[in-house]
Amino acid sequence: MSKSGESNTRIARRGLMLVISSPSGAGKSTIARTLLDKDKEISLSVSVTTRARRQSEIEGVHYHFASQREFEALRTSESLLEWAQVHGNYYGTPREAVEIAMAEGRDMLFDIDWQGAQQLQEKMAADVVSIFILPPTMQELQSRLHRRAEDTEEVIQMRLANSRAEIAHWREYDYVIVNDDLQSAFEAVQAIIRAERLRRDRRHGLFDFVEGLVKA
Ligand code: ADP
Ligand code: 5GP
Repeated sequence: MSKSGESNTRIARRGLMLVISSPSGAGKSTIARTLLDKDKEISLSVSVTTRARRQSEIEGVHYHFASQREFEALRTSESLLEWAQVHGNYYGTPREAVEIAMAEGRDMLFDIDWQGAQQLQEKMAADVVSIFILPPTMQELQSRLHRRAEDTEEVIQMRLANSRAEIAHWREYDYVIVNDDLQSAFEAVQAIIRAERLRRDRRHGLFDFVEGLVKA
């Protein structure tokens, strides 16, 4: 069972489902990677995708890469908690890993688009904490997509063309962060997690703690 995140008194709580979305290139994967590296209480929900693997990506770490046919089989067997078509490819969240993490009260991070965020919000509203990452300017978004240098020019142009439609969903998120300076954006995410872990309604261990406290 997860603990409260406080240094001394440990109080059991439910796990968080931390959903991070942004237009492509705004920096959500960079923030997610730093978070996973620094916060050992959080694990990543590794999505399934029909997109081609980028050079820097490792099967099973960044994604489970699947053919269209394999993806459809997962979909029809209801093995996906949510799925969507994004930038012309299919992406989905494997159900089993999330159910195990939630049952054990562990936190999970979801790097998914607004369609996936909506589906998780509908199914598991009490556990979802959602963050939308915005770029400081559209020009900087374009520069970051080029600097990442992992997609073809055609793919970059499609992602830029889709970015305004993704940004249009910013109001559906609990928190919105402008990723201008990476360190500040990361610290904002850490602050959100710290506060959300302390919410009374997540900390079922408080019942026993307070009972013991007043009995003594
Ligand atoms: P996303 O996952 O949202 O598509 P990435 O995390 O891959 O975006 O970031 C896109 C590129 O922008 C990467 O090359 C990353 O290193 C860079 N980047 C991310 N955040 C910042 C920032 N605050 N300032 C400058 N470059 C950034
Ligand atoms: P990329 O191809 O850059 O890795 O991801 C493209 C978009 O798909 C991003 O917005 C990313 O958050 C989203 N995405 C990745 N995995 C999933 C998933 O499992 N479900 C949904 N709905 N979107 C996902």
